[in-house]
This record gives sequence, structure tokens and C-alpha cells, in this order.
Amino acid sequence: MKNITVIGAGTMGNGIAHVFAMKNYKVSLVDISQPALDKALGRIAKNLDRMVAKEKITEAGKLEALANISTFTDFKSGLHSADLVVEAATENVDLKLKIFKQMDEVAPASAILGTNTSSISITQIAAATTRPEKVIGMHFMNPVPIMKLVEVIRGYATSDAVTQAVMEVSRDLGKVPVEVNDYPGFIANRILMPMINEAIYSLYESVAGVAEIDTVMKLGMAHPMGPLQLADFIGLDVCLAIMEVLHRGFGNPKYAPCPLLVNMVTAGKLGVKSGEGFYVHTRGSKELVVASNFR
Ligand code: NAD
Repeated sequence: MKNITVIGAGTMGNGIAHVFAMKNYKVSLVDISQPALDKALGRIAKNLDRMVAKEKITEAGKLEALANISTFTDFKSGLHSADLVVEAATENVDLKLKIFKQMDEVAPASAILGTNTSSISITQIAAATTRPEKVIGMHFMNPVPIMKLVEVIRGYATSDAVTQAVMEVSRDLGKVPVEVNDYPGFIANRILMPMINEAIYSLYESVAGVAEIDTVMKLGMAHPMGPLQLADFIGLDVCLAIMEVLHRGFGNPKYAPCPLLVNMVTAGKLGVKSGEGFYVHTRGSKELVVASNFR
């Protein structure tokens, strides 16, 4: 594999382009929005600058990595020579199905079509193509250049050869790939989200306060961040959407989203992205201040 196409140049897409470009793959970064592409290139350059400052790479290495990335707003030019596609566009089923149908039409027949989805069924996405054996989940973690894990998700029809190829390319990026099967939430979110949801239930039932719940999990379980703080970082809307996928997918009441989580999302308290969730988030401040509703 030499030519990688990354679809979507947002938070995850720019990180994925960054790690492939650093390992000398030729990266075509595709987005419908030119400003998103410009912003992504700026972000990648800034992150590479930081690595130069820390003497992890040289200035020449940075320029080489940047030269490996080309940007496109049209699918055909961005996909025509792809060996592997990693789709990291907005998390929306209808959009992903449309993108995979389009990719299937224009990417070479031999290309592997991967998706970075956090929660959508790989099997469902694969069914929108004529090559379900070549469709696979390649779930990077945020921030991509730092986090080691790639959850490699086999859809119902994904072939052994495609799985092996994606495991290998992930290792080549310096990541640790883990193979899992395609069921709601895969492994990462099936375990993480119910834990976060349970932390919210504990708050909702007044078992303990925000700071107390997070302290128990940080100091007692050696988690680098408490579950409520983590929920604020992920986005409460994203947490709710993933709980709904688990609830719907398994039909088991144990995955019912906590009513407090539902209320907070309805009220627009989404965490860091909206400035308030369980904590108040002030730009430039690292102090943890519990939101007034929970004081
Ligand atoms: P984002 O909103 O930051 O970026 C999405 C990008 O997709 C935007 O730049 C948008 O312009 C682009 N886009 C929308 N429609 C498109 C189209 N038709 N063609 C090409 N580009 C299009 O989203 P993100 O947080 O980077 O998430 C991307 C994917 O990664 C989602 O599937 C998400 O579930 C998954 N994911 C996110 C995280 C995270 O922490 N953010 C972690 C793991 C996986």
C-alpha cells in the first residue's frame, strides 16, 4: 500500500492524514469544504512544528511529511489511485452510506474501503458497496498522532486478507491494532460508554457529586481523567448518540441513556464544545470548575 485517501478533514481526518504522511505514504485528503482542508493542513503543520521543537523529527522530516499530502474537494481526483481509503467524515448513517456508494464507484476495484466510524455498523456500510469483503472499520482514537490503539473492525463479510492488510498497515504507522467483530459499539465504546452512563446515573441518583465521582475513578482506578470530565471532552451529544446505538442494537434496558444525559443534551450543555457540561470550560483555563447545576 502506498496511496491512502482520507475522506473528511476534521478532527480525526487531519490526525489520520498526519500519521500516514509521517510514514511516507502519499495521502489524498478529501473534504467537501475547502476551508476544512485549509484548516487541516494548518493544524498538521502546527502539530509537526511541535514535534520539531521536541526534537522528535527534523525540519526536513516535517517538510517531507507535508509534501506527502495533497488536498481535494472532488471525490474522483482524490480517489482514483487509492490503495486504502479511510473515511472520517461526519458521523451520520445516511451520509456514510452515500459516501461509500460513491467511493465504490470511483475507487480502484482493488482498493480497501475503511471507515473510522465510532458507532455505525460496518456490515451496514459494506452493504452499500459492491465489495463488502473489502470494507472494514479502522477506528483511530483522538488525538490520532498520540493514541496507540487502532480498533480494526471486521464486518460480517470482511475477508481475512483485508483484515491482515489493515492490521499490517496499522503496525507500520507505529500503532497497536486490535481485531474485533462488528457488534454495536465494537469494544471501545461498548465498555467506555456504559461506564460514563453509569457515572451519570450515580450523579442523577445523588450517590455522589461530580468531583467525588471523578476522584473515585481517577485515584481508585488510576484513570487519567474521571468519566464525567471525559464525557465533557468527548461531547455529551456524542455519548448520547452512542448509548442510543447500544440500546437500539442490543434491545437491552441496561443500555438506556440516563435521563440526566438526555436533559443536558436537550439543554445544549454538551461539554467542552459548548463551554459547559458537568464542568464549566473556559478557554485557556485548565482549572476544573463544577457546573453550577451540580454545586
Ligand atoms: P468532524 O466534524 O471534526 O469532521 C468531519 C469532516 O467531514 C468535516 O470537515 C466535514 O466537512 C467533512 N465532511 C462532511 N461530509 C463530507 C462528505 N460528503 N465528503 C467529504 N467530507 C465530508 O468529525 P470527527 O470528530 O473528525 O469525526 C469523524 C469520524 O471519526 C466520525 O465517524 C466519528 O464518529 C469518528 N471518530 C471521532 C472521534 C473523535 O474523538 N472526534 C474518535 C474516534 C472516531
